[in-house]
Amino acid sequence: MLASIVGINWGDEGKGRMVDLLSSDYDIIIRYQGGNNAGHTVINDSGKFVLNLLPSGILRETTVNVMGNGMVIDIEHLTNEIKKLTDKGVKITSDNLKISDKAVICLPYHVLLDGLEEERLGDAKFGSTKRGIGPVYGDKYMKKVIRMGDLLNKETLNKKVENLVEWKNLLIHNGYNAPKVETKDIMNWLEIFGKETAKYVCDTTTYLQKQINDKKDILFEAQLGALRDIDFGIFPYTSSSSTLAAYAPIGAGIPFAKLDKVIGIMKAYSSCVGEGPFTAEMFGEEADALREAGGEYGAATGRPRRVGGFDVVASKYGCLVQGADEIALTKLDVLSYMKQIPVCTSYKIGKKIITDFITGDELAIAEPVIEYVDGFCEDVSKCRKASDLPVKAVEYIKYIEKAVGCHIKYVSVGPAREDYILMD
Ligand code: GDP
Repeated sequence: MLASIVGINWGDEGKGRMVDLLSSDYDIIIRYQGGNNAGHTVINDSGKFVLNLLPSGILRETTVNVMGNGMVIDIEHLTNEIKKLTDKGVKITSDNLKISDKAVICLPYHVLLDGLEEERLGDAKFGSTKRGIGPVYGDKYMKKVIRMGDLLNKETLNKKVENLVEWKNLLIHNGYNAPKVETKDIMNWLEIFGKETAKYVCDTTTYLQKQINDKKDILFEAQLGALRDIDFGIFPYTSSSSTLAAYAPIGAGIPFAKLDKVIGIMKAYSSCVGEGPFTAEMFGEEADALREAGGEYGAATGRPRRVGGFDVVASKYGCLVQGADEIALTKLDVLSYMKQIPVCTSYKIGKKIITDFITGDELAIAEPVIEYVDGFCEDVSKCRKASDLPVKAVEYIKYIEKAVGCHIKYVSVGPAREDYILMD
């Protein structure tokens, strides 16, 4: 079985939590895109973990975890992340962590450039997490990057870095007027953080091909959600990689593989970090109450997330572009304080009502059409089967299921591994 777990919305849907739960059925977990610009929070028997780069399966001893070629990896961040986990007793070796030799290294100057550009943009900023992700993906497509495999060849590494630094300074120093970047500093950084990370580097395509031949079960883990996809998201307020399930086999290093199942993770309400159009957004006290109830602060950055009611228009689109076969609906418990649950059922642009999601400039002027569904007003966090849920909660789930047109198989009612319900 080859399955992908992906975000249906703007990210932060609780993918990490679902990967942690479902990874028991899989042998290999693969992260296939993105970098350390988002975080998965996982709470299980061993404690609370925030993972930015490592696949969430790293917390299960039985799984092998792969960081695919589609990723961009800040090896300093990765070194620290590995240390934090091993300090808590998580075992990480080259047997259970494999990093693609083709994954790209996010260098300190990418982080620097991210900050310099956001500063230059001022009020027009994209709301970047300033982790260097945009600049490093840009360089990847210009073929001017260092890849993880380069760490294994010290002889050629210095020359490559020298060339890159000379080129980058044209922008950093001559363009932004910032101090020049020095080759020796980059080499020093690569030396220090390459020490910990190089030992996991291998040809993951060859490794995975063998595992597929041996009929191993593989789970692909996405970062962020459909609406942040570079092509199909709310461009330019997207991430710089493809967050879609269709990209999973490519970013994982096995482009010949076909997915058997796509599991979409969708939140019972909406949240969004950073800038860009967010039609269902709530403001004022209503927003504060939902933000507090849901603990909506970024796992990677601590930034307060923007929040709103469930957005049918955006989520239906998310299910479509992800090709979702089934849904895990998360954070239902958070809505227990609401007497009436707001749902954004369509968008209004001038006099026009639209129910199919749009991207582009028109989205910025879309207004939400909000309908209210009866709240269930009960703590559902201890419910473990559908029959434990209040009738109104089941009605809300069914309402959403019908609206997005995809079966809701799991309902998550808390952050811990066992806080979920398997629906009929
Ligand atoms: P991810 O990037 O999609 O993995 O999501 P994040 O980790 O950024 O955000 C999800 C947050 O919600 C984490 O803090 C989870 O522990 C928490 N969480 C996940 N599912 C549930 C749930 O059903 N109920 C509650 N209350 N919290 C949840």
